[in-house]
Amino acid sequence: MDVQFLGGAGEIGRSAVLIDESLLLDFGMLTDSPPQFPVRTPSPDAVVVSHGHLDHVGTIPALVSGDARPPIHWTPPTYELAMTLARDTLKLHGGTVNCPFTETNVRRVTQVSETHGYRESFEAAGYEVTFYNAGHIPGSAHVLVDDSDTRLLYSGDLHTDDQRLVSGTTARPDADAIICESTYADVDHEPRKTVEERFVESVETTLWEGGTVVVPAFAIGRTQEMLLICEAHDIPCYVDGMGKQVTEMLGQYPEFVRDADALQRAKSHARFVTGRDGQRKRITDQKAAIVTTSGMLSGGPAMTYIPEIRGNPMNKITMTGYQVEGTPGRNLIETGSAEIDGRIMPVSARVEQYDFSAHADRDGLFEFLDSYRDTPVLVNHGDRCEAFATTLREDGYDATAPELGATVAIE
Ligand SMILES: [Zn+2]
Repeated sequence: MDVQFLGGAGEIGRSAVLIDESLLLDFGMLTDSPPQFPVRTPSPDAVVVSHGHLDHVGTIPALVSGDARPPIHWTPPTYELAMTLARDTLKLHGGTVNCPFTETNVRRVTQVSETHGYRESFEAAGYEVTFYNAGHIPGSAHVLVDDSDTRLLYSGDLHTDDQRLVSGTTARPDADAIICESTYADVDHEPRKTVEERFVESVETTLWEGGTVVVPAFAIGRTQEMLLICEAHDIPCYVDGMGKQVTEMLGQYPEFVRDADALQRAKSHARFVTGRDGQRKRITDQKAAIVTTSGMLSGGPAMTYIPEIRGNPMNKITMTGYQVEGTPGRNLIETGSAEIDGRIMPVSARVEQYDFSAHADRDGLFEFLDSYRDTPVLVNHGDRCEAFATTLREDGYDATAPELGATVAIE
């Protein structure tokens, strides 16, 4: 089996792994200005997708241009999320070089889509493929590829701990080689329970003092996790941005979330913002949490809320995830001011950061890989893949970190 890394090697974003020039795993987009795509667009016989984040599905519609119509295999939530993201990319960048596909391509994706549940093996480009719950976001999967000689396990993004939205990964299928993500390979997360307690106490204090809390959150996964936390602790909340439709959609796939009843309760508990009649400005003096995109303050309704609440030190902005360098969210944390719609705005509201990561940390990755002591490990999806491969080698693993564009033979 020859495995080529067309993206996501030594980097995070534009994940793409091509097997024997025939089966493509993921085809993502690296969010940057301008966005970046996998190093080339192959003509695979079939495509298999691990989960519905932009860095894994963002460039998928480009695979169905010209006469090419490869079947695309994914779980139902991954399919829905990929379509949502594709339409969003069209809206943001359609018709420019920053969007490598058209509306026609996106429509074609619906014609070649084939959905599968976890642990239901299917055939793709002559391989037997099986999805296992990866514990990252709803529908996220480890992908096992079997050519009847060699079994390759592609970890996709994974989490070993339970989140409120999804349970951690427990599946450890036999494999002859494993491609493993390493996003937080050099990080020790604070236990989720502790993060949640600190967050809840902070939000409750602000509301009790009469302030408003803006909770910037990614639409996929994070928004729902925050709504589940608000419901569990009876924190009054609004939800705004793309996270609204993702929350509605996930309600249709109870088998892909940890507790469908809890998600239903969280959905009923949250007030969905329509944005009509100046509603956004109106609710910024409510004693409530406003969960909204974007997670790094680089767009979305957060752009309306932050200018409204920033002047009052009684208010609060709680970042809920890692902030990439150069984003307004990162600048806000570091400098106390944010550039919004081209204007630098000083912020008197308090700013806090919480690590609600959906990825395994160092210990989690070791826990996952403990079942693969004798299996060659190819480290990808991280800023320091080589360093993690070295750490693994020092621990007795046969680990390497392939470079972008490299082809690795596995047996
Ligand atoms: Zn992901």
